[in-house]
Amino acid sequence: MLYIPKKNGNKNPKCFLKGRGGCSDIITREHYISHKLLNIINQDGKSVDITGLHWIPQDKLKGIGKANLVSNILCKEHNSNLSPLDSHVGSFVEAIHRIDKGLLANDKGSLCFEFDGRTIEQWLIKTLVGLVESKNIKARDGTDYIYSDKCIKLLCEPRVKWPKGWGLYVQVPDGHIHHANSFELIPMYSETDLCIRGITVKFNGFSMVLVIGVPSDSSKLGLHRPMELQFKKDSITHKVKLTWPSSERVKPQFITFTQVGSYKGIHPEQNLERI
Ligand SMILES: [Zn+2]
Repeated sequence: MLYIPKKNGNKNPKCFLKGRGGCSDIITREHYISHKLLNIINQDGKSVDITGLHWIPQDKLKGIGKANLVSNILCKEHNSNLSPLDSHVGSFVEAIHRIDKGLLANDKGSLCFEFDGRTIEQWLIKTLVGLVESKNIKARDGTDYIYSDKCIKLLCEPRVKWPKGWGLYVQVPDGHIHHANSFELIPMYSETDLCIRGITVKFNGFSMVLVIGVPSDSSKLGLHRPMELQFKKDSITHKVKLTWPSSERVKPQFITFTQVGSYKGIHPEQNLERI
């Protein structure tokens, strides 16, 4: 978990964490989608297929240079404060990638990893706020989204109690894992005030949903704050455990992903045209 204290002093008007104080004068180029994560999704190329940014035509995939997915939205100090989130999520995605490759290669032996669920939630908020601040996601008519101050509080103060039903959901697969070197972003927002309510992030056939608002139908979002993701093929089971603060009263929920073979290219249910 990452804590960013409130400080007196400089508030750089271009930094989205200026409300915390203690900004540096220099604004740095920030990868609004973690560079480490993009490198894991597509290790071979310099670009990654992305959908969901407002300047990409709807329902299309576009190959974008990883180096171009940056924006000037954080000061140097706060960019550096937040970088452990990218590192943690990068390791989480790397673990899933490693498991996936091991299953494909029929490697023997089971792997077990452990990550902090709250840190993953903080990373999702950082990504969502970064996408709004950099104006990479907007309503269909081009109007900017807004986000509540609560987002910044939940991002900076991990021990704050989250409202009921908010937080991470992991979608339960209805069949097999599909491999795709693409990254899909689907924001959720209120139609009335365009206030952002969450985001779905899909990569390598894996979907995470962050909810910051009471979902009208949580059953479609997946399992709330699962404790364990299990990846199976034949007799092999690998585990990715997620730990949660004891105050969260997380139900012992598990999700099982079964790998039945390899699939290269676009996710068959995604079926988006690449431009
Ligand atoms: Zn700052």
